[in-house]
Amino acid sequence: MVILCLLFVIRNSFAQTIINRDSEIEQMVKEVSSDSLKSYILKIVSFGTRNTLSTTTDKKRGIGSAREWVVQKFNEFAKNSSGRMTAYVDTITLQPDGRRVDVAISLGNAMATLKGTDPNDDRIYIISGHLDSRVTDVMNRTADAPGANDDGSGVAAVIECARIMSRHSFPATIIFVAVSGEEQSLLGSGYLADKAKKQNWNIDAMLNNDIMGSNNSNETNIIDNTRLRVFSEAYSTTDTGRIAQNIRNLGLENDGKARQLARYVKEIGERYVDNLQVVMIYRNDRFLRGGDHTPFVQKGYAAIRFTEMNENFNHQHQDLRTEKGIVYGDLPEFMDFEYLRKNTGINLACLANLAKAPSMPQDVKVDVRNLSNSTTLTWKDSKNGKAKGYYILMRETTSPIWQNKRYTSQTSITLPYSKDNYFFAVQSVNDNGNESLPVVPGVGR
Ligand SMILES: [Zn+2]
Repeated sequence: MVILCLLFVIRNSFAQTIINRDSEIEQMVKEVSSDSLKSYILKIVSFGTRNTLSTTTDKKRGIGSAREWVVQKFNEFAKNSSGRMTAYVDTITLQPDGRRVDVAISLGNAMATLKGTDPNDDRIYIISGHLDSRVTDVMNRTADAPGANDDGSGVAAVIECARIMSRHSFPATIIFVAVSGEEQSLLGSGYLADKAKKQNWNIDAMLNNDIMGSNNSNETNIIDNTRLRVFSEAYSTTDTGRIAQNIRNLGLENDGKARQLARYVKEIGERYVDNLQVVMIYRNDRFLRGGDHTPFVQKGYAAIRFTEMNENFNHQHQDLRTEKGIVYGDLPEFMDFEYLRKNTGINLACLANLAKAPSMPQDVKVDVRNLSNSTTLTWKDSKNGKAKGYYILMRETTSPIWQNKRYTSQTSITLPYSKDNYFFAVQSVNDNGNESLPVVPGVGR
């Protein structure tokens, strides 16, 4: 009976939390166009192969001409950005590594940076896809490797977000990147994550999009364009020593940075995009497979992966061929551009909401001085941006998502719920209703 009452209270208060869409974000999400996405994919497929080892000197074929084209698109969009967007190919020379690089190559990430309008705000948000493609043999650099879905879909999402967001301004900085070398062992994203760490970039969130524009698997015959998977690690492997002890003591094994970001994406994505459910998968990536968010996760950043609900392995990492009436290969004809439009919209909504929001509240603590069945939380104002107030989040310990969200304009709150039985977190929110990532309280004595 007691449990039933508590559940009623939670559901009841959750239902009372009505959060309106920010009209600017709503408008931007509406501008995401399946035709634009399709046109980008047809263009990058036209470069024949984008294998990381392919030519960088041919004007029409290979990874070199493909990355130049992406930067050219970024530069077109930059014209509408009042000088805030800059684009370039960030290149490094790699020597043979005895594994998936057998000659010296020039590896290049196509980057666009939309600088934040607040000079004191050093937050960075990154959206990525990988430009390189492959066939059955990852070392084959000459055969046609269209890579329409893997990962033309992710690159198209990055380009479309850059097109729309370049016309708007955000206090924090957004980086749009089509990395290279993913299939050759995450080389481009590894290079970028290293650079970010060495230069102390304050990356609040990294959204990696890889294989997110096709709606069916050949094996199951399930067609699904209403669900998108988001992969996230429970907590970071960089959390060691006292941090790891704290995770154990407070039962925070499901509240790491990436998991918290995945929860945020579910809430904000579903707030702005209709007929699309974000499905949280509780692992860093698919079984024994990797992606470009992983080097960022390993450096301690909040990074997650978006992937379609049902991968089709006839159209992934395959030589183009027909066998027994089955067409193999990653071709545009197998894509669902309407599904890709929705998945891109989720990325855009989350990036925009994060980059418009004040930074996270600071020094969030749960008071443990006295044993009590109520919970007192305290915090300090955001470092950047103007917080109008704060959302207090609450969930049962077994719930994957926040169940209760209430607003306060104060910097402390006492709730008649026990910290033994619920998880809590605090978000900053501004006048437009853009909320920061949540902060789980530390111990306050
Ligand atoms: Zn991929």
